[in-house]
Amino acid sequence: ATPMSIISGVGRAAEFGVLVRDADALQRASTLTTLVFDKTGTLTEGAPRVVEVVLFNGAEAANVERQAAALEQGSSHPLARAIINHAALASLPEVAQFRTIPGLGVSGILDGKPLLLGNLALMEQQKIDTSEITGTLAEHAANGSTPVLLAAEGKIVALFAIRDPLRQESVSALQRLHRRGYQLVMLTGDNEITANAIAREAGIDRVIAGVLPEGKAQAISQLQQQGQQVAMIGDGINDAPALAQADVGIAMGGGSDVAIETAAITLMRQDLNAVADALAIAKATLRNMK
Ligand code: ADP
Ligand code: MG
Repeated sequence: ATPMSIISGVGRAAEFGVLVRDADALQRASTLTTLVFDKTGTLTEGAPRVVEVVLFNGAEAANVERQAAALEQGSSHPLARAIINHAALASLPEVAQFRTIPGLGVSGILDGKPLLLGNLALMEQQKIDTSEITGTLAEHAANGSTPVLLAAEGKIVALFAIRDPLRQESVSALQRLHRRGYQLVMLTGDNEITANAIAREAGIDRVIAGVLPEGKAQAISQLQQQGQQVAMIGDGINDAPALAQADVGIAMGGGSDVAIETAAITLMRQDLNAVADALAIAKATLRNMK
């Protein structure tokens, strides 16, 4: 392994819009077996939209949309933006006792009513009766939407079906990686049914869903214990510990600064084909040195 050829490999990667931190990163990138992708913002566009609002318990659309948007003012989650944009209100009321519950949702008090907004796991944790909505929830999840539930005063009043389409190039880029023999895994905090629907569409082999933010690094470590050499590809603040745990962390350009600082490789193009390019260059460089 000559240092010169490694340097030229790093240079060649840069021509493809791939920033490799050091020679070591390139070396590790040449022997990977498993590629783990974050879902939101990595496989998908990361700009989710509300596609349907289903009402329960006599709720009114205008009211639940205002309540949900008011709660989401305090959140930086991509789902929050979707709910605020959907409500399209000129001004939103302040929420008292606002709280973010990582990986689950948000809560607060509006007009004296306790509100809870998030996934099924959050409703179950807060002992909200969900028996009436499970069918509707499964239906929306099965076609790839993320169901976000709103509970007011302890009762489910709405389901927001939110859709975040795959990036246009995801399917072909993943096919390319699959043909090269990598095992492709999706890692997400989203629910299993939604994740499976999107994975099927994307051509992903394996889904690890319902993972809380702190569980992402642990999921990577489990794959490593099974003998896999793992790259993690992600963009969010939540992804940083998993990027650090992976044999090679790959940050999508345009994502959070924390992800970019943690990653061994940064993609300047927001295009999963850059992953395939980076791994091909790593392999070719290391092969030439043997
Ligand atoms: P990921 O980054 O994989 O999407 P997160 O841990 O950020 O995972 O979120 C997991 C799930 O928690 C989301 O799919 C959603 O159901 C719920 N959730 C988290 N934050 C919010 C929020 N601000 N509003 C509604 N739901 C949320
Ligand atoms: Mg993400």
